[in-house]
Amino acid sequence: MSRLGDYRNVKQKTKNEKIGSGDERGRNDVQNLTERMRKDQSEKLRWFEGILHDFFRRAGREHLPWRKSGITAYEVWVSEILLQQTQVTRVIGYYERFLERFPTIHTLAEVSWEEFLPYYAGLGYYARGKNMIKAARAVVETYGGEFPKDVKALESLPGVGPYTAAAIASFAYDKNAVAWDTNLRRVIGRFFFGSKRADIPFLEFEETFSLRSKELNAALMDFGSALCVSRPKCGACPIRDRCEYFRNHGKIEKNSHFEFRISQVERQRWKDARVMLFLHEGHKKYYSSKKNGYAPFRIPSSHNTRAGIKDWFRDRYGLELAVRPPHAKIIIKGKPTLLVNAQILLGNPGFAVFGKEAVERVTYTITV
Ligand code: SF4
Repeated sequence: MSRLGDYRNVKQKTKNEKIGSGDERGRNDVQNLTERMRKDQSEKLRWFEGILHDFFRRAGREHLPWRKSGITAYEVWVSEILLQQTQVTRVIGYYERFLERFPTIHTLAEVSWEEFLPYYAGLGYYARGKNMIKAARAVVETYGGEFPKDVKALESLPGVGPYTAAAIASFAYDKNAVAWDTNLRRVIGRFFFGSKRADIPFLEFEETFSLRSKELNAALMDFGSALCVSRPKCGACPIRDRCEYFRNHGKIEKNSHFEFRISQVERQRWKDARVMLFLHEGHKKYYSSKKNGYAPFRIPSSHNTRAGIKDWFRDRYGLELAVRPPHAKIIIKGKPTLLVNAQILLGNPGFAVFGKEAVERVTYTITV
């Protein structure tokens, strides 16, 4: 019986008992059932951790360069930032080149954006790269070059969220901090609740795990990328007998299939959309495609991908851009149009510059 199922039974039983025997007895029953449910859940968690531990010993990705023993907080941080939205196999080369050029946080803190870019270019999400330099400077200036050990202090650094902070604290400092990335959410969500989209009670889990976070995080990340992948390999999975996803044949998670089909149709519709590009600098200065009034850049549908937009700008203006995914999709004069933000990475723009108000006025006219 799943935990969600248990809750439903507790609720139903409470209702029946209250009608038959009064509030006091009903309350006691609820407490007993809740207690039993906690024990069952905790026993299941211990079993889960035992198997996970074995899996990690046999099949953990200990060959990855950021899994070495005695890794520093700086090295963990570099690996985690580079790994965001990027496949592990791609990151290995970047990671090694990056640490060869910037072996310490001090070397990174002194670098200019132009010097930094060749070791980062190709990974996308350039705001993340800029945050790396800012965070390195903050660690040097505020913490004397040592990453703080406290999770909250880590989270205060530019570009460091709860996941990265927990990864640094657990892998470098052996602190108890669970790094809830998509792999962890998917495995725990499916195994205990039947769906990777389950509403996981994070705190409750963190208090009940008995493995050290260092091992737990690494084991769950590896398990999630080896077996419990997007299309889970349940046939080869050592925990399938007690997995809620496996027991209900993935029905809870598959309820979202309908949504998926809709999104396929939507995707087709927007395939030929043109682009309206808002080129800005920190959302303070906006570059205009016209001199005598603000106008966003209009890019034809033949170049409506992020790579296409970059090519279009490079060919026309000799500028390198960092392009965000579309922030809105609208129909203008019957034509599907993607609204996209971008910033200049390299090159000198000769465009007229306007403030935010001018842009807001134009956006308002376009969207009403
Ligand atoms: S049985 Fe399938 S869904 Fe469940 S944990 Fe294993 S791989 Fe994931």
